Amino acid sequence: EVIMRVNDVSKNFINGVTDNQILNHISIDIYEGDFTVIMGPSGAGKSTLLYAISGMDKISEGEVFYKDKNITKMSENQMASLRSKEFGFVFQQTHLVSYLTLYENILAAGYTNHQNTVLNIKNRTHQLLEEMHISHVKDHLPSQVSGGEAQRAAIARALINQPGIIFADEPTGALNKANSEQVLDLMSRVHQSGQSILMVTHDIRAAMRGTRLLYIEDGHIVGEKQLIPYDGDD
Ligand code: ADP
Ligand code: ADP
Repeated sequence: EVIMRVNDVSKNFINGVTDNQILNHISIDIYEGDFTVIMGPSGAGKSTLLYAISGMDKISEGEVFYKDKNITKMSENQMASLRSKEFGFVFQQTHLVSYLTLYENILAAGYTNHQNTVLNIKNRTHQLLEEMHISHVKDHLPSQVSGGEAQRAAIARALINQPGIIFADEPTGALNKANSEQVLDLMSRVHQSGQSILMVTHDIRAAMRGTRLLYIEDGHIVGEKQLIPYDGDD
């Protein structure tokens, strides 16, 4: 089942008189339940592609569909509503709110979806703290925990509204090797539970977790491979 369809998407940045085409007629189908990875050298257009697909950034040409909804045609309000209900985001930096505890950061994200009940949000927050192995530091501020713990809280926050798809942009980019492996093990676990994930990375260890690898160069998809995902359990 296709969850997202990227149809002939281009993105240009006009720089003075120079028209830089960063994404060049990209078409991809992203399948439900897949852990899709986009790799490629620095400057290839990976982040731009992720922002284009997730509706965080406008595209110059083409269309993006989420479950048959053409998100290219949506208003800012419709897009914001779709993003908060259906999309989860994880970045290199956690963007956790510095004066809220890990528990409060996750809880606050749950409250942005008005279909949730208070009890549901609280129960789910506790469940995610367990799953991400951060219950012991739930009342700490982001500055009081390790980088790995903070990123695991950011993943829990991304999952709180049970999104249809998680977008991850270099989720291990700011972590040391040990913390990266912990974060990746948990992302593998999340994928195994049925979550669709689209991740951009140049970290080969992160890419190995995927089920499908797309390779991008100069704004073109130049390669594609099905993977047998490594899940951390040697
Ligand atoms: P990657 O994530 O693969 O490293 P990016 O998507 O961040 O690559 O960037 C691709 C290219 O687009 C780079 O050459 C970058 O300089 C350019 N670019 C990204 N954002 C902008 C912007 N807002 N304005 C102009 N050029 C940009
Ligand atoms: P993990 O590998 O579990 O992500 P670390 O091994 O880096 O975490 O850290 C172990 C413990 O030390 C953690 O429980 C964390 O709360 C604490 N810790 C790590 N870095 C910091 C820090 N900068 N400030 C306060 N506590 C920290």
